[in-house]
Amino acid sequence: MSYLTQPTASHFVNGAYVEDTNGTPIDVIYPATGAVIATVHAATPEVVEQAIVSARVAQGAWAALPGTERGRILGRAADMMRERNHDLSVLETCDTGKPYQETSVADATSGADALEYFGGLAATLTGEHIQLGTDWAYTRREALGLCVGIGAWNYPTQIACWKGAPALACGNAMIFKPSETTPLCALKVAEILHEAGLPAGLYNVIQGMGEVGGALVGDPRVDKVSLTGSVPTGRKVYAAAAAGIKHVTMELGGKSPLLIFDDADLENAVSGAILGNFYSSGQVCSNGTRVFVQKGIKEAFLARLTERLKGAVIGDPLDPATSFGPLVSQRQLEIVRSYIAKGIEEGARLVTGGARVERDGFFLQPTVFADVSDDMTIAREEIFGPVMAVLDFDTEEEALARANASEFGLSAGVFTRDLVRAHRVVAGFEAGTCFINSYNDAPVEMPFGGSKLSGVGRENAKAAIEHYSQLKSVYVRMGDMEAPF
Ligand code: NAD
Repeated sequence: MSYLTQPTASHFVNGAYVEDTNGTPIDVIYPATGAVIATVHAATPEVVEQAIVSARVAQGAWAALPGTERGRILGRAADMMRERNHDLSVLETCDTGKPYQETSVADATSGADALEYFGGLAATLTGEHIQLGTDWAYTRREALGLCVGIGAWNYPTQIACWKGAPALACGNAMIFKPSETTPLCALKVAEILHEAGLPAGLYNVIQGMGEVGGALVGDPRVDKVSLTGSVPTGRKVYAAAAAGIKHVTMELGGKSPLLIFDDADLENAVSGAILGNFYSSGQVCSNGTRVFVQKGIKEAFLARLTERLKGAVIGDPLDPATSFGPLVSQRQLEIVRSYIAKGIEEGARLVTGGARVERDGFFLQPTVFADVSDDMTIAREEIFGPVMAVLDFDTEEEALARANASEFGLSAGVFTRDLVRAHRVVAGFEAGTCFINSYNDAPVEMPFGGSKLSGVGRENAKAAIEHYSQLKSVYVRMGDMEAPF
């Protein structure tokens, strides 16, 4: 496998692969076997400096290009990503352990969507004209300058594109630091962007742990930071960015509610709960991990869910028949197992799963707890693994209040055939991204992001433009200037 996974070098800076073996080695482990499949090195201060300088040098000319020219390059990169989808999906599977069945439809493809969408939008970015009597004003929509992207490990290709595409469309340069757990995919994004014609220096990828991320966030030459990660990291990065009054986007964790009413289509509701808990082995920030089921449908829901989970094909993630893969790392496996132990200890009823799968790698069975109460640890904390907590409820009012009683506010969903109720419930949700009779859709045309501790700012859609550009206002006087003395 190594010929596929070992990158040419650890970093991609100023349009080329760059190595500096003085950096701390970072082993890349294939989660399905535990084998080391590549080794990269954390960026040294010299590599960080090279990335910052090359980005700053390249950014001005890039911002000065007409939007159509910037957009054309992003569009070409999108096409190339789609042409190479198979290889990119295999790499994503090796990096993360997610089944090829998922990666072939959800990762490079979603990255390509972002490149295509923001490539198209680049030519439409304008300011406005404001008539003020005979005087007038206008606004210019300008780039921020140098944006830093810092990624989590669950969607390394998608995150690299969701941050890079709007940043580049708006005329910025980007330095992207992938998660140290999944360092491989973003290098391919950089390679493709440059093959598509992106001038050197505009999209740099450098490796490293939090320390390298911290060096970027703290550098006064960086104008914006977009982080996808956990709330504790978000707090640190937000605070460090605040010291320099930098722009931020924070895509953080969640413990999202999914409300299933008695009148819901049972099969669809079960599908929503499965997708919203077990896709990517549960390592999705927006997952609906608190499943509130109305009492009248609860037993039928649990019975059908248990039945459907028997259909999960657990195995080699590179086999296209596999639908459920391992967790990303030994560490994540241990974290999730400790939550399962807590669930049992605190009195939740284990309906199915709960144990490791007898094979190499970091596999854990899809796990469902019922009779979960709001105060249990598994109902309050983000687990980031394949663990569903089922809670029951009587009334809409009660369910909504309990759904909102969380410090997180990333996503929320509702299954009901009563559409008036569906819209009423969604209006009451304290969450950034909501779903009616569906779960976890993330088309690039729709803004994505969280409220409360789950984050600030929005990715995707036209909303992302606001977070990668700034307005300059220009007042134009047409007559004489007056002054009091
Ligand atoms: P993490 O917070 O441990 O790390 C995220 C990134 O931040 C990594 O690249 C890490 O190296 C970097 N980092 C750590 N400390 C830093 C510091 N002091 N300064 C700068 N960078 C630093 O998160 P993770 O374990 O990689 O990912 C899982 C978390 O990400 C979960 O909480 C999940 O909900 C969240 N997530 C959110 C979204 C979203 O869009 N809202 C998407 C995916 C994942």
